[in-house]
Amino acid sequence: MARFFQLKYQPAKVEMESALPQRPPNLCAGCPHRASYYAVNQALGDATAIYPTDIGCYTLGILPPLEAADFLLCMGSSVSSAGGFAKAQEEPVVAFIGDSTFFHSGITGLINAVHNEHNFILVILDNGTTAMTGQQPHPGIELTPEGRQPPKVDIESVVRGCGVDQVETVNPLHVDKTVAVLKQMLGDKQRPGVKVVISKSPCPLFERRVTGKKQKVVFQVTNECDMCRRCLDELGCPAFTYCEDEEECAFISIDEHLCSGCSVCKQICHAIKPKKKTA
Ligand code: SF4
Ligand code: SF4
Repeated sequence: MARFFQLKYQPAKVEMESALPQRPPNLCAGCPHRASYYAVNQALGDATAIYPTDIGCYTLGILPPLEAADFLLCMGSSVSSAGGFAKAQEEPVVAFIGDSTFFHSGITGLINAVHNEHNFILVILDNGTTAMTGQQPHPGIELTPEGRQPPKVDIESVVRGCGVDQVETVNPLHVDKTVAVLKQMLGDKQRPGVKVVISKSPCPLFERRVTGKKQKVVFQVTNECDMCRRCLDELGCPAFTYCEDEEECAFISIDEHLCSGCSVCKQICHAIKPKKKTA
């Protein structure tokens, strides 16, 4: 670019005192997608399912401990491939697509699935933005990064307009209710066809940046913890740290600077309690 615009360009020199620790990619602390995947895993219990997924932050649901992604081809393929998987085999099929990708290329697959009486659950992960690529607006948003409130196309109305009559909107941060809705849909063999769960809760990074939301309450692991590791092995929020003290006794703590206060961990463990953020 510098050559094209005939500008002088000096690459920046970056000096680091020590190497940064290596870490795998992960959904952010407090990401509602983690709560949605956790709820699907809980609703299925020991049963297995096929998870077609799509393109967005939520593709990271492929990683342990969530492991809720089996197939991804291109944008919109979660919905269209779910119909194929449901026709070809007996396992339940639970497909995932984000709000932005749904508007981009999920609607055509959904109409096709309704018309052809495909039998699967589609979870639309509605975090109110196009989070992965920079928080661009899409037709379903309530607020743009510049603070504009454009006319909003309601996802539930679009889904119903495509011919789906089994639709539920949930807040994935309300864990028990979300699990109950998913269990009911998975167990309802009397009414085949496409079922849609709209899992709606804002991206915490977008919320902080655009609405200026400040986190006052975070969560901590108290001494009631019995080291069952459920928080690590089933939820895996990156705000959790597994440590060992000088006597090599293991304990789990929450980094209050990473915790977004979503409260999902508190709903699954009696030993996790709220506390006021210190700084
Ligand atoms: S914080 Fe709770 S879930 Fe995590 S290890 Fe302790 S008791 Fe288990
Ligand atoms: S409340 Fe729990 S799950 Fe939510 S961000 Fe904080 S540590 Fe993670």
